[in-house]
Amino acid sequence: MVDTPIDYSRYEAGRHVNYWELDLALQAEVERTYPGAEFEWAEPELSDLGELTGHTITDNAAIIDREGHELRTYDEHGEVQNHVQYHPLQHENDQLVYDRGVTHDVFHAPPGRDDPLGFQHVLSQQTILSFADGGFVCPVSMTTGAAIVLEKYVDDDHPNADLLDEYFRGLTNRDYDDHIEGAMFLTEKQGGSDVGANETTAEPTDEEGIYELHGEKWFCSNIDAEGTLALARRPDAPDGTAGLSLFLVPHTKQDGSLNDQLYRRLKDKLGTIAVPTGEVEFRGAEAYLVGEPENGFKLMAEMMNFERLTNATGSVGGMGRCLLESKVQAATRDAFGETIQEYPLMRRDLVNMQTDYEAALAFTFEATRHYADYMANEQRLDESPEDRDDDAARAFKLMRLLVPIAKYKTARMAVDTASYACEILGGNGYVNGFTTERMLRDSQVLPIWEGTSNVLSLDVLRVLNREAAHEELFPLVEDALDTADHPHLDDLAATVAEEFEDMQAAMLSLATEDQEYAQHEAKQLADYIFDVVTAALLIERAQDAIDERDDARKALVAEWFVETRFAKQDARGITDGEKLPDDHFAEMVRHGSLSPDRLAQAAPADD
Ligand SMILES: Cc1cc2nc3c(=O)[nH]c(=O)nc-3n(C[C@H](O)[C@H](O)[C@H](O)COP(=O)(O)OP(=O)(O)OC[C@H]3O[C@@H](n4cnc5c(N)ncnc54)[C@H](O)[C@@H]3O)c2cc1C
Repeated sequence: MVDTPIDYSRYEAGRHVNYWELDLALQAEVERTYPGAEFEWAEPELSDLGELTGHTITDNAAIIDREGHELRTYDEHGEVQNHVQYHPLQHENDQLVYDRGVTHDVFHAPPGRDDPLGFQHVLSQQTILSFADGGFVCPVSMTTGAAIVLEKYVDDDHPNADLLDEYFRGLTNRDYDDHIEGAMFLTEKQGGSDVGANETTAEPTDEEGIYELHGEKWFCSNIDAEGTLALARRPDAPDGTAGLSLFLVPHTKQDGSLNDQLYRRLKDKLGTIAVPTGEVEFRGAEAYLVGEPENGFKLMAEMMNFERLTNATGSVGGMGRCLLESKVQAATRDAFGETIQEYPLMRRDLVNMQTDYEAALAFTFEATRHYADYMANEQRLDESPEDRDDDAARAFKLMRLLVPIAKYKTARMAVDTASYACEILGGNGYVNGFTTERMLRDSQVLPIWEGTSNVLSLDVLRVLNREAAHEELFPLVEDALDTADHPHLDDLAATVAEEFEDMQAAMLSLATEDQEYAQHEAKQLADYIFDVVTAALLIERAQDAIDERDDARKALVAEWFVETRFAKQDARGITDGEKLPDDHFAEMVRHGSLSPDRLAQAAPADD
């Protein structure tokens, strides 16, 4: 247990600490997502991972970022070898993670349990790992994503059932020596967002379910994975996404020889150096059909839902690390005779970062809860809505709506947070060797891969129109606002309820507008949904903290979120005399507790 208010001046930088134990906001949010007694079992595991990530994994990550991996496409005789020479520390990090059951434990019972854990577990683990290195987490995440697809869509009567089961067991193995990783190859030169433009072809062979792929993939992260899933088009399949099938394309063929493909080069990237991203040319590569033919886009979407959510947990982890680096800096750096955290502007900066972080946490872990429910209900994206019971239908709709918003919003927030963390570290923050510089480079990919902000906002429109996801969203917001009982939170809830009404009206209006106008407003709508839902969630969590721990700290966070998003202020609030971040810095940033009696009676957002 960490003493509060936390004294961040005890640390030299945001490493060599236990990321789990030190992050009380993360702990509270994660705990809410586990069902029943699962958290009790999981907590020591998360703490162990927090310790490891805060020491060995993050130290290794800094070195791997500097020294990188190397692709050796040809051997000394000019023969294709497609060999990625990994930095040795990458293997150490991988082994530490996979031997601890990351990926395995959500598919198979870990030692000491009779059942696997829910998906909230792996998403919490990935959040912690992302404090160290988002690039490192990318393959970890794709390994789970590929396993999800194989588990859900490969039945016993599938032509490749036994073969694909071997890959599933490799992807989910707890023993590093027998473990393989996953990857996903969609993007081609002519289209990343427009996946339907894929031109890679799949020619059937004499063996049922086995194909040969020809074509190029333009962005292939974890390029040499054994469990890569790739989209390609069979002969005479229709154009667009409806004609795409999904294949597992291994690095090594069944006969043990190198697959027929060329790893052309690794991308010379801005960041995420821990994951080798390259270009692949399929030259008749052996590939195993996964699921039904021409159903590949739906199957890939199943993987994509998970990857998008892990992009959000990755963003949150990155924000958590940047916030920690900033807090340590602010508590240890002197300027003009004072520690910089004593200055009102710096306090406001840190409160803003903390509030963003807790907002991102609340929204992402709410999405995680519904995603885990969706997975626990054993649903598949290609199931018809009539096959779902009420709980399953609810989880599906909420998962489909919350995940793209979580991915879009948290990715942008992660870039902003990393950028500002550099500034808080001053000149050093911009210099190689200080973590913020790496975090900024790494975070810039978060809004791009797994779907850009625009593509995700358009997905939100699609989900609202096709799945009527608002039918489940509205009660979620209403229920969260209804929990407000303390007068202060009640006032905040009234402000949010007004916005909620406007948001519903906006959704309704866009549903009847022509497509062009709806697309024009799509990102605004996603922003609006995020703000309203997050405000309601923060109020709910604040009321819970008052009820359960007699602590009003979270109410301050909810208040500042509502104030900064929804307050209708004169002169932008400059003259209103309020300075909540300065008055409550110790509670908000250093996790001090606050008696509920000390909350002001009037909500500033209404001023
Ligand atoms: C480091 C890195 C690793 C990657 N790893 C992988 C990987 O492992 N596997 C993989 O398949 N891909 C991977 N990608 C590719 C990534 O998913 C794509 O770059 C991304 O989806 C965007 O596609 P694109 O580059 O073709 O850009 P485009 O699709 O051409 O988009 C360009 C711009 O147009 C906008 N745009 C597109 N359509 C619309 C529209 N209808 N309305 C409004 N705006 C629109 C986009 O938002 C974007 O801003 C990786 C990318 C990077 C940078």
